[in-house]
Amino acid sequence: SKVPPINLNNGVAMPQLGFGVWQVPDDEAERAVATALEAGYRSIDTAAIYGNEEGTGRAVAASGLPREDLFVTTKLWNSDQGYDATLRAFDTSMRKLGLDYLDLYLIHWPVPAKGTYLDTYRAFEKLHADGRVRAIGVSNFLPEHLERLIAETAIVPAVNQIELHPHLQQHAARAFHARHAIATEAWSPLGQGKGLLEVPAIVAIAQKHNRTPAQIVLRWHLQLGTVVIPKSVTPSRIRENIDVFDFSLDDEDLAAISALNEDRRLGPDPATFDMG
Ligand code: NAD
Repeated sequence: SKVPPINLNNGVAMPQLGFGVWQVPDDEAERAVATALEAGYRSIDTAAIYGNEEGTGRAVAASGLPREDLFVTTKLWNSDQGYDATLRAFDTSMRKLGLDYLDLYLIHWPVPAKGTYLDTYRAFEKLHADGRVRAIGVSNFLPEHLERLIAETAIVPAVNQIELHPHLQQHAARAFHARHAIATEAWSPLGQGKGLLEVPAIVAIAQKHNRTPAQIVLRWHLQLGTVVIPKSVTPSRIRENIDVFDFSLDDEDLAAISALNEDRRLGPDPATFDMG
């Protein structure tokens, strides 16, 4: 594959760039994932709540790619937290995906007010011990949630998938993850394609390298060492977003992008988000 892997803390290799399918309806997800697999993506990021595990699974099956060349992530939704509910939700996701093992299973949100993320994670540990998932992790966990998880469960999460882009650089979370060998995975890496790709500093770096603003932002992530999962349903953009392994940003470019931090979230605050 054209995408280099990073090694997770349990030795499993994960492609550093994957394809995200949030807000893509099931049929469209099937087409988009098929396009992504043709373009060379091997890692797909879905979630039970996205409602497109079936379309994702159909595209994976139709690709004819060997299972071991693929890296599939899905996520447990908030309303399925708890030990028994998690085991049931996992079976449902696997049936929809049409897979017999998963590469990465994530707790979608901590929902600390519910008080169930430890039991949920213990079910993840069982799924891992049973060989049904190669790596387990979390999403949207703040350092305080990770501290508690690490203190009270056996397996340090392999990944924490968090909102991360030049306007929200997550310095404290990234430093915490690095101390505990947890891989940082960036969601909304392009800032959801909203204002970020028009920021003059990014446009200027794009012109300098004869690349697009999206490619510049993705390179910034890759050079930080984070895993990225950009989303698009437009074939040309799907291809553009993986065509980022034949150039690099210099120190001046990286510094100019790092100066754009505003600690500004596009998504909800993980301390309080408990929808569903
Ligand atoms: P993103 O930052 O990947 O931005 C996607 C949008 O950017 C597209 O809809 C399009 O409008 C635009 N875009 C994409 N490629 C472009 C290009 N080359 N040029 C110009 N515009 C382009 O946003 P996202 O979808 O929010 O995040 C990516 C993935 O992260 C999701 O699909 C999902 O898999 C994951 N995610 C996870 C969580 C979570 O809670 N764990 C939350 C949000 C997203």
